[in-house]
Amino acid sequence: MKTLPSVDVVIVGGGWTGLLVAKELGSQTALSVVVLERGGPRKTDEYGEDMDELDYAVRLRMMQDASRQTVTFRHNPAQRALPLRQFGSFLPGSGVGGAGEHWSAIFPRMLPDCFALLSHITEKYGAERLPEDHSVQDWGVTYDELEPYYTRAEVLMGISGKAGNLRGKQIEGGNIFEGWRSAEYPTPPTKIPYFSAMFHDAAKSLGYHPYPVPAATTSQTYTNPDGVSRAGCTYCGFCERFGCMIGAKAQPTNTLLPVIQKCKNVSIRTGAQVRRIVHDTVQNKGRVRGVTYIDATGQEIFQPAALFFLTSWTLNNTRLLLLSKVGEPYDPATKKGTVGRNLTHQVNFPAATLYFDQPLNRFMGSGASGITVSDFDGDLFDHSSLPFLRGGNLLSLSVGNRPIANFGTVPKSVKSNWGSEWKKAALHYYDRTGSINFQGEHLAYSGNYMDLDPTYKDHFGDPLLRLTLDWRENERSMAQFATAKAVEIAREMGAKEVTAFSGLRRYDASRYQTSHIQGGAIMGSSPHRSVVNPYLQHWHMSNLFVLGASSFPQNASANPTPTLMALAYRAVDHVVNRYLKNPAALA
Ligand SMILES: Cc1cc2nc3c(=O)[nH]c(=O)nc-3n(C[C@H](O)[C@H](O)[C@H](O)COP(=O)(O)OP(=O)(O)OC[C@H]3O[C@@H](n4cnc5c(N)ncnc54)[C@H](O)[C@@H]3O)c2cc1C
Repeated sequence: MKTLPSVDVVIVGGGWTGLLVAKELGSQTALSVVVLERGGPRKTDEYGEDMDELDYAVRLRMMQDASRQTVTFRHNPAQRALPLRQFGSFLPGSGVGGAGEHWSAIFPRMLPDCFALLSHITEKYGAERLPEDHSVQDWGVTYDELEPYYTRAEVLMGISGKAGNLRGKQIEGGNIFEGWRSAEYPTPPTKIPYFSAMFHDAAKSLGYHPYPVPAATTSQTYTNPDGVSRAGCTYCGFCERFGCMIGAKAQPTNTLLPVIQKCKNVSIRTGAQVRRIVHDTVQNKGRVRGVTYIDATGQEIFQPAALFFLTSWTLNNTRLLLLSKVGEPYDPATKKGTVGRNLTHQVNFPAATLYFDQPLNRFMGSGASGITVSDFDGDLFDHSSLPFLRGGNLLSLSVGNRPIANFGTVPKSVKSNWGSEWKKAALHYYDRTGSINFQGEHLAYSGNYMDLDPTYKDHFGDPLLRLTLDWRENERSMAQFATAKAVEIAREMGAKEVTAFSGLRRYDASRYQTSHIQGGAIMGSSPHRSVVNPYLQHWHMSNLFVLGASSFPQNASANPTPTLMALAYRAVDHVVNRYLKNPAALA
């Protein structure tokens, strides 16, 4: 193994969180910073060359290669987990920019009560209302504490949207249920597509409060405080699973990289697969000394440093902690240990599919253009007599219907499922079909967790991460409730036919839901129930910070990136203003 000279900071993973830390430390300090990214380099101008649905969206050109490294999956501990040979229900990113290159760019904040979920539910409904095997907990940070950092993340990316709660004042047309915000969105909402406009009008006529989806695909040319300019969206529809060819969608490579490239103290090493965090631990207290990685030539390298950020996304953060024996692995039988607990995946499904007589022009759009209804989110409606807790959002998006993914959906009135009648109907309905999606909370349960698989290994011979995950009655009942609301709006939209979602049963690892998978290295105010403290600093290794959605104790209905960026900004502020001034005091 080759040992390199020590640096000040090592960052493992070059996605949204890793490159945000690199940009902030690179521009605010003189520290030498090295980012280790397992995938290759990327440039925005590569994306215009070949927007090919088969290559990018079906064969997942930009994602982690499952033949080299995957995860194993099972529904419960009594089963033997099997490797996912193809990613389905979520899509891990790889390469500079991570999943932030091919994300959809929907950018909502979490509701304030999400951060104190256990306290909120217990106070309002009593502890007995929580499911028996729940492991819900508070985050150790409040919405008010995070608000300035949410604003910084929105300003960084030039988020398009309309405020619904400006310093406590409700504003019609925005999300009146959102937590207070200190500033209006940096840019106005994106254009509202035809299908989403119909959804807006129908929801409003039913007395709900529709509003434009907050989007990191900016509606107009925007220059952020770092001096980085991006163009406005042209609604070409190549967002989710693609990099944006004109840079309208905020991506780490078009928003953070231009600043990092000017920082002489930051370097990014690509093709660097980190395998272990090397540490000295005595009686549960320790310090990280360095990381080992395999470089692009296959050589094993030891990179020592003084300060470490683990920013390799939920599953990789958890796996690296487990492989490196940092902290105590969670044991569902005894409920002891913290690493790997509270695995959650946002509840997401097409609640209603609508068929119309007229074309909807759904080939145009962006990953985040559309309308949301949040009237059934969180605890915004009384759950006293409902068989479930919490809720979520109904979304009508126009993301640019891709032909391979969307061809072939026909209403139930079409009786044949093959042959000329079906082909005619499939062609007719291709652009006459829309869906109302539900995206809801997933509570944490003691039986949903991650550990190392005892059987299956990756191409380096390291154990794969094993996911044990299934839905409970809470999610199933919530899905049923949300489906009825979506169908109500769909009928009001005047759809010729409506198909309701058939219901959540077992967790399906093959159906794409979202990539909003969370937990494993959760934050909290006690080292007995969390891996990192409210500043995302490891409880037992003060020179290690673990960033990203791995820190979320449970899954909110909001997409994760605004919150993980806000938490990353807060962690960097803590490092710069407190930790670096006196590392020993915070050990
Ligand atoms: C198709 C899709 C659509 C999405 N849409 C949205 C959306 O609309 N809104 C939203 O909020 N979120 C969305 N997301 C999620 C969003 O992309 C993530 O929340 C965000 O990118 C997470 O940032 P991160 O830095 O934690 O991880 P990532 O962006 O995944 O970056 C992690 C990086 O670490 C690298 N890495 C991993 N392991 C190692 C290792 N051992 N050594 C070295 N490097 C390593 C990876 O290669 C990767 O580049 C979407 C994701 C996908 C896949």
